[in-house]
Amino acid sequence: MSSVRVRFAPSPTGFLHIGSARTALFNWLFARHHNGTFILRVDDTDGARSTAESMQNIFDTMHWLGLEWDEGPDVGGPHEPYIQSQRVKRHQECAQRLLDEGKAYCCYCTKDELAEKREQAQAKKRTYRYDGRCGDLSDAERAKFEVEGREWTVRLKIEPQTIPVEDLILGDVSFESDTLDDFIFMKPGFLPLYNYASTVDDADLEITHIIRGQDHLSNTPKQILIYKALEMEPPKFAHIPLVIDATGKKLSKRDGEDVVSVEAYRRKGYLPDALANYLVRLAWSADDEQEIFTPDELIEKFTLERVGKSPSRFDLQKLGWMNGQYVQKQSVAERTDGSVIFLEKAGFDLSDVPRAKLERIVDVVGDRLHNYADIIAYAAYFFTDDDGYEFDPAAIKKWFKKDDALQAIQDVVAVLEAVEPFDVAHIDEALRAWVDETGAKAIQVMQPIRVAVSGKMVGPGLFDVLELLGKDAVIVRLKRAANEIPSLR
Ligand code: GLU
Repeated sequence: MSSVRVRFAPSPTGFLHIGSARTALFNWLFARHHNGTFILRVDDTDGARSTAESMQNIFDTMHWLGLEWDEGPDVGGPHEPYIQSQRVKRHQECAQRLLDEGKAYCCYCTKDELAEKREQAQAKKRTYRYDGRCGDLSDAERAKFEVEGREWTVRLKIEPQTIPVEDLILGDVSFESDTLDDFIFMKPGFLPLYNYASTVDDADLEITHIIRGQDHLSNTPKQILIYKALEMEPPKFAHIPLVIDATGKKLSKRDGEDVVSVEAYRRKGYLPDALANYLVRLAWSADDEQEIFTPDELIEKFTLERVGKSPSRFDLQKLGWMNGQYVQKQSVAERTDGSVIFLEKAGFDLSDVPRAKLERIVDVVGDRLHNYADIIAYAAYFFTDDDGYEFDPAAIKKWFKKDDALQAIQDVVAVLEAVEPFDVAHIDEALRAWVDETGAKAIQVMQPIRVAVSGKMVGPGLFDVLELLGKDAVIVRLKRAANEIPSLR
């Protein structure tokens, strides 16, 4: 193993977000590419919002995406524990050291006092920064506050300086310390806040590279100052561009759980490799041309140098296309397995449907299947009762309202009744002969038949649909449609 050690550090306060999954993926790929170690650490210092359920959901979703970790809460490792809340003693120990060394100080300012200072700054149109007052308290003043029983926080003492950040994606970025103030890193109760806990943990876990979203860039100078104060070596940083929605804003809960959570794509029948491929391609390219990569290819080709700097727009259509590419590469048997799960979830009882028939149905649906859930739209009517499917309102409007539709449906009953055996070749022959005889345009009669037997305007080849439904069902369905058409028009 190389010395590369990276981590994904989710806060278990909800589902795994698409943007976080991409961060996890980049870390995982970077580790695998360098034959390094991928670590999962759970940042649960926000006790109020962190839940065990969310943590489990994040684990499950990462397993589903194929992002296995080498060290983490469940698999263990040389730096246990991997759950931040269990490392608080260590955070406190280091904080005490910073206090003892005079690199940090206790702040007794009350919330009201701080709010007042903030308001005063705002009134003068100045950016509020803590004035460092508690950094200069005399022993007597401190004792007085202690006696008053004031709550206290711990602030880092910041000396004026330029803080350079060598970012492996953004290049050199630097921050001036006067844009920061002596920030709080331990809240009342001597409990660590994110920037600090994360830094101590990253240092203890011997993390070599921090790869995370650009929204964390502003935390980086603070974290570097913490490393310095602790006399620990900062890792290298790489900030990846944000994932944005169609309006150009960061993809967020506002876009809907259905769009933002990885779990939703799993539910909707997307393939994990396709989603991963799409997410990687959102900010990374091998050569600006190749779109589809096997996981092994991604591992081989992934480098941070080829990660872009600008935000990447999340495009559901492209993801759908990408998923379709993966589905099409699967065998009919695999596609059938996937489709069956969705049909059963939708409540269809397939116990009496022979496997060969299921495979044939999936086969004729063909490349219309962009994800397994599509099977419902394209094939559910094969599994309903003959009056158990609905006519799509748009199909009614387009195909049942034509004058000759009803006539065609009524007439074709006799034509199809005479077809024996009832297979694609014989159905094809009989229907074409009938169309020639009537002199109608093929589409004008075929489409009403399709709508009559399936309720849909689009689907597999009509002759396949008819054969798969079987003669009896086709006749019953055509008659049902003929009966209902007058009231539908
Ligand atoms: N727990 C933090 C988050 O989920 C980790 C950020 C980081 O990678 O430092 O945003």
